[in-house]
Amino acid sequence: MVTLDATATDGRYHRQELISWWDQSRLSNARVLIVGAGALGNEIVKSLALLGVGHLDIVDMDKVEHANLARCVLFRDGDEGRPKSEVVAAAVGTLNPDVTAVAHTVPVQQLGLGFLNEVDLVIAGLDNREARLWVGQSCRKLGQHWVDGAIEGLRGLVRVFLPEGACYECTLGETDRKIMAQRRACALLSAEEMHGGKVPTNATTASIIAAIEVQEAVKLIVGRGDLLALRNSALMYIGETLETYRVTYAEDEFCPSHDRYEDLLPFAVTAETSLADVVTAGHVRLGEHLDAVELEDDLIVASRCGSCGHNAPVLRSLRSLRPGDGLCPACGEELTLDARRVLDPTDKVLAARLLDLHLADRDVITVRAGNRRAHFALSPALGTPGVFQEGSR
Ligand SMILES: [Zn+2]
Ligand SMILES: [Zn+2]
Repeated sequence: MVTLDATATDGRYHRQELISWWDQSRLSNARVLIVGAGALGNEIVKSLALLGVGHLDIVDMDKVEHANLARCVLFRDGDEGRPKSEVVAAAVGTLNPDVTAVAHTVPVQQLGLGFLNEVDLVIAGLDNREARLWVGQSCRKLGQHWVDGAIEGLRGLVRVFLPEGACYECTLGETDRKIMAQRRACALLSAEEMHGGKVPTNATTASIIAAIEVQEAVKLIVGRGDLLALRNSALMYIGETLETYRVTYAEDEFCPSHDRYEDLLPFAVTAETSLADVVTAGHVRLGEHLDAVELEDDLIVASRCGSCGHNAPVLRSLRSLRPGDGLCPACGEELTLDARRVLDPTDKVLAARLLDLHLADRDVITVRAGNRRAHFALSPALGTPGVFQEGSR
């Protein structure tokens, strides 16, 4: 056995640092959000951890199933039933002790817009359009970059969305938008409906697509956007023939997702903080006359049963409802929900505690006076169960 001196050429990252444009210190200091811990998410996290990307946040609300084991590199027999995000985060420590990984066992929307603003980059490996649309719209609002990937059978695609140019919603056709609007109106989709049917996938396709996602991501993390191969465009990969081709997306000037928020203002919350406290801060920021309080998610302010007339007082975010919550407790028929995203600054519902509204953990609340706005980012997190920390660095 040959013993090497502890010289620089023996450093953990030496070989990759030989790449001319590499910047290991930027990678080591970066914080990346990985959305989805399935087949793609496993591979994305594996590569980011090996590369020494310093801090990984991994969000996925699902649990490991037996049928995941054939294509998820970080799952083992016996992990069935454990949250995917926790299993993946725990595996990071065995791949590279330099890397910290935090698991979030919630829907990505529950992290909140403020969370996405804290990370350097978002990389998605998702299986549903609703989550992808939320990530796309949120990144656009924040001027955040994100990398998307998708697989089906032996085929896949990778795309990179920059803050300017076509966004994810620009890539959707009119029919897609209509379907999604209807689905959003029908708030109480089950997880199965949300994720659609089971699609064919395998380990090789997942690893190829995830590797390309991470390769583009590294260029962004080290500040070399000039090296990107994909800019508001997609690489389509066909595994059967090993053909690839590019698709460049055109920016849709009527796209409803092109709102850009100015700076997010940190807003300290406690368990007792109410919406009215946010309005008070808005007065200080924008002056005495506010026109509206705008939320990131619909807030249900009332519900009524069309069949039996039962009125239920409800005051919570639409997203926090579960299947069954939308049914009348008296007769079982579907309730009509009064949901609002824009509130009058004098509305009495503003007295409600933020905690009771089940807003996203790091939600953003906007107050408006004319065309001037202030965006308050709640901090610290309102507190959702299911956050699991692995590693201590
Ligand atoms: Zn767009
Ligand atoms: Zn009823």
